[in-house]
Amino acid sequence: MPIRATKRGEERGPLSGSCDVLICGASFAGLAVARELAGSGADVLVIDRYEIGERQTSACGVPTEWLRATGLIEAERQRFGSLLIHTPHGSKRYDLPWTFSTFDYRELCELLWRQCDARFETAKVNGRAAPANGDGAIAVETDRGVLSAPLVVDALGWRRVLASGDGYQPPDAPLSRGLEVHPDGSGEDLEIWIDRRYVPAGYGWSFPARDELRIGVGSFDPRFHVRETTELLAEDLGRERVRYQGNWIPHKLRRATEGGVFFAGDSAGHCLPLTAEGIRTAIYFGIALGRELRAVQAGEQSREQAAARYASFHDSHGWKFRWMLRAQRLVPRIPPRLLGPLIRLLGNKRFVDWSFGHYLEIAPPPADSAHEQDRPRDKQDDAEHPLGAERDLVEAEQA
Ligand SMILES: Cc1cc2nc3c(=O)[nH]c(=O)nc-3n(C[C@H](O)[C@H](O)[C@H](O)COP(=O)(O)OP(=O)(O)OC[C@H]3O[C@@H](n4cnc5c(N)ncnc54)[C@H](O)[C@@H]3O)c2cc1C
Repeated sequence: MPIRATKRGEERGPLSGSCDVLICGASFAGLAVARELAGSGADVLVIDRYEIGERQTSACGVPTEWLRATGLIEAERQRFGSLLIHTPHGSKRYDLPWTFSTFDYRELCELLWRQCDARFETAKVNGRAAPANGDGAIAVETDRGVLSAPLVVDALGWRRVLASGDGYQPPDAPLSRGLEVHPDGSGEDLEIWIDRRYVPAGYGWSFPARDELRIGVGSFDPRFHVRETTELLAEDLGRERVRYQGNWIPHKLRRATEGGVFFAGDSAGHCLPLTAEGIRTAIYFGIALGRELRAVQAGEQSREQAAARYASFHDSHGWKFRWMLRAQRLVPRIPPRLLGPLIRLLGNKRFVDWSFGHYLEIAPPPADSAHEQDRPRDKQDDAEHPLGAERDLVEAEQA
């Protein structure tokens, strides 16, 4: 049994009161919002059922530039310039136009937290509570008491605990399922398997992270159980089946705001369909949301204006997510015998550069989001794009 740092039961006293911003969930999305509020003067309280960084929620793979641009590069474990794709009818190495990195979850969360000036408490969020008075504050019920704030963020993952119950439950909801094992060991390649032996609709992966491998299977069909085939893949690779971690992964956008609450990361469906990449998008939308809340705190806009602006930013990405979902639905329909030749055909350099360039553009890395004052003036004034100067950076990288 892993030793958990989180205090339990009597060790934790009652918790109640109010703050300016209450962020529920201290993983990628929640910490990104808190980071963006640093130095704003807001009293920000972050809560999570576990201590920060205690429970890894993914294989922790992300475009390297995202680690660099957010000051998190120290958490990097291994870097890859190519992706090795296996099908039953052959393998193909894709040389990527940008690198991908695996990182250490605990370290990354600690680094993110160091960039925040918020308070933190462990508490399990149960849902919305009736507001105590009519001041517009939103009340949240936790296992330690009721907390309230005018600005509340749900970064709690796919369960979207602070939304009105809309019966969004697997296996009927648009959720994929993912499971992985974390054996000791090392490897050179970032590998994926598109092979129906492991999953009829989805893929298997092996992400090396210096002295550990993250081997798993993700199924776009929530009815397909991935435990057996995750174990099969680990066995095929001659690796131990130890240290399991898994979760549901949303593959469809949901509303960005609801009942006055803001949603970011998996709670808003920000994980990309097809690839199930949800870390950089959680941080990306977390940064955008943090900016809007910061402007509320500064008296520059109301909560309702922030909600409208954030929802509009979220909605403006809808078409990209829909395209990814179309591709996700298409892949399982390709006859297995065509898969090998197709993967080889699509692996030509021009197509890989083009497609992966566009893929990164869905949520490009920020130039330096948290420390806006450090940015050149003309970049700060990019009103069209809430993440401002990042576009220039990506273009420069790709030139
Ligand atoms: C097996 C697997 C591998 C993956 N690999 C990758 C990958 O390599 N790269 C990538 O980009 N994406 C990957 N993903 C997707 C990625 O993990 C998610 O999209 C990402 O974690 C979303 O971040 P988040 O901050 O929105 O939510 P989460 O990371 O899920 O964080 C939610 C937080 O809320 C807390 N919480 C939940 N409920 C409560 C409650 N009731 N009360 C208090 N706290 C609560 C949790 O403890 C957690 O800290 C993977 C997913 C799975 C399942």
